[in-house]
Amino acid sequence: MISLNFNKDNNKINLKANICSNDILKNYMDFDYFTGLCKDGCPHYNLSYTCPPNSPKFTYYTKDYDYSLVIAMYMEIDKDQTINDIHPYLRRVLSDLLIPLEKEVNGLLTDGGRCRYCESCTYIDNLPCRYPDKIRFSMEAMGIDLDKVCKDILNHSIVWDNNENSYCTVLGSVNFNDLSYDKIEKILLSLVNCI
Ligand code: SF4
Repeated sequence: MISLNFNKDNNKINLKANICSNDILKNYMDFDYFTGLCKDGCPHYNLSYTCPPNSPKFTYYTKDYDYSLVIAMYMEIDKDQTINDIHPYLRRVLSDLLIPLEKEVNGLLTDGGRCRYCESCTYIDNLPCRYPDKIRFSMEAMGIDLDKVCKDILNHSIVWDNNENSYCTVLGSVNFNDLSYDKIEKILLSLVNCI
């Protein structure tokens, strides 16, 4: 497990990362159940090419890759902030890491939520995606139990409330093949120093 922290924009951001075989991760997938939760409770359901019911199963998306480097970033929520303030910020920081990491390991990333390249996704206007080569999906949109992955793979709990001493977590990953733990760790550390 890689565990570190770094400063960005005067924020202390913590990072945990661990390598997991996709054969193990697929056991955390219950596609119908978790995409059903999106359908029942998410205001973004069916409003993006990257949200259910348009997202693929995790097993299909990752079929060409043997391993995932699962990454959680988290930071404390100040008294005058809410999780809704921090989450989009932390997602951007995670993307700043995942995008070059994907390139470095010749892999495929899973995002920390729905695609946000465009202000409004062209899906709702029944038009083609503006940047099809940039489309990536989140693990939760592909039916993965994020809470359990976070606990089991990273020994970290996701919290979704604004209580005192609370923190905000975003989760993503990069799929890859044929790279040693040492090599992945070296690449990750060098990129963290650049974001
Ligand atoms: S790139 Fe734009 S159009 Fe394509 S999925 Fe993302 S938000 Fe939608």
